[in-house]
Amino acid sequence: MKKVFLLFLLWVNLVSQVSAKSIDAEFEAFKKTASAQDMYTFLYAMPKGGDLHNHSTGSNRSEWWYSEILNQQKNGYIYYTKIKINNCKGYGTNEFGRTPYLMLFVNIQEFELKKLSSCEQSEYKRIQDLDTQQKQAWLNSIRLDKSTEGRDEFFQTHWARINSLMANPYMQANLIVKNMQAFGAEGLSYLETDAGVRGFVHPDGSPFEKENVYQLYLTRFAQKDALATGVTVKLQYSLLRFLPNAEDSLKWMYEFVATHPELYVGVDMVGREDNEKGHPLRFLSTLRQLRHQHHSVNLSIHAGESDEPNQHIRDTLLLGATRIGHGLNLTGDPDTLLLMRYNQYLIEINLISNLLLEYVDDYSQHPFPEYLRLGIPVALSTDDRGMWDSNMTDEYFTAVTHFNLSWSELVKLGANSLSYSFLDGKKKQQLLDDYYHRVATFEAKFTQQNIQGFKHIKPESYSFACKRFKVCGN
Ligand SMILES: [Zn+2]
Repeated sequence: MKKVFLLFLLWVNLVSQVSAKSIDAEFEAFKKTASAQDMYTFLYAMPKGGDLHNHSTGSNRSEWWYSEILNQQKNGYIYYTKIKINNCKGYGTNEFGRTPYLMLFVNIQEFELKKLSSCEQSEYKRIQDLDTQQKQAWLNSIRLDKSTEGRDEFFQTHWARINSLMANPYMQANLIVKNMQAFGAEGLSYLETDAGVRGFVHPDGSPFEKENVYQLYLTRFAQKDALATGVTVKLQYSLLRFLPNAEDSLKWMYEFVATHPELYVGVDMVGREDNEKGHPLRFLSTLRQLRHQHHSVNLSIHAGESDEPNQHIRDTLLLGATRIGHGLNLTGDPDTLLLMRYNQYLIEINLISNLLLEYVDDYSQHPFPEYLRLGIPVALSTDDRGMWDSNMTDEYFTAVTHFNLSWSELVKLGANSLSYSFLDGKKKQQLLDDYYHRVATFEAKFTQQNIQGFKHIKPESYSFACKRFKVCGN
């Protein structure tokens, strides 16, 4: 009996090796002949894991913001945008700080508008009243749509424009669900995004209770349309690292995450890394203190998203991070690079973000293949995909076409994006089992029918894919 069982195991092993071989070979052949559209359809249809590096507000496409802004009228929120400059004064103000006066398409809520002088009020228009041309300009004002726009446009104008839009918890929750729907359609089963509970206001400008925002998220993500996406969602709390009071914020959010584990799984640190005020070791003593008090708070921290070499990735591991966001300059720190080979730390790779924010001039400079093929765990993620007007398939397409990925490498990337998620062990295993099951089904279909088996799928692609890959979808 034992012998039979052993023979059976041998057979299973053999069959899986043969099929693994054949799908890899078939994918190599497919790469050589596939049109851009067919490759895109294939990558859109293939099962993927999770998006581990995702900023919820930066992930909203302009069109999604627009329709959600209109939808929010039912909750009493009315939004205005600045469409002209009447030379009223040096600086406009809104509830969330100073915004450069000369900037167009700054969005504010009605209660903020009422606080402005009548001169300044005359510069704004209700967003639903924009004419066709104004609407197009508004849509383009919060995404990188021109080749001249890059890092400064992103860090200095986009966020200032959407500040007030980020203060409505209903809109926030609905747009996360919108992301879940889009990710679900391209084969993802998990989304780990960042969203907070502080700074939210009612239509009259009065603050929301933090616990109410938390409950609102829980309720929204349990609704039918959210569950129907097949995407599990968890949140991180992100810290703007260079602010003067960042340590206090870190203490507050760390405790909040520790005490709200149903939805929150980790803490992130974000913000321009060329602003040295937010350097990693600044937070070492605070985190050591916090680890004395709380358990179960994971750290996924941006590091190495900079042009010059430094040891920020090593320092960030010292902070306790198990995932590194971007990790672009690791090749400039060989000791840490060696430490990360075949280790427990994952680098969240954001190919499109790095190109558009000019951290690489072209992909020949990108270290992703070096990490992947040296055995450093990596996964592809989308960062602020709304502002790039792109999706996860675009990341996969970029990876395959620039770095000649094999099928096994693609499958591994998807698996990593679940294995290194901050989900609890049981849920993680469930999503991994489901992922491998979906991959097996996909492989069988591709082996039998090649791309013909997926021709009925119409990928939802956006302007990034249209401009860069000449894949212009719906
Ligand atoms: Zn990021």
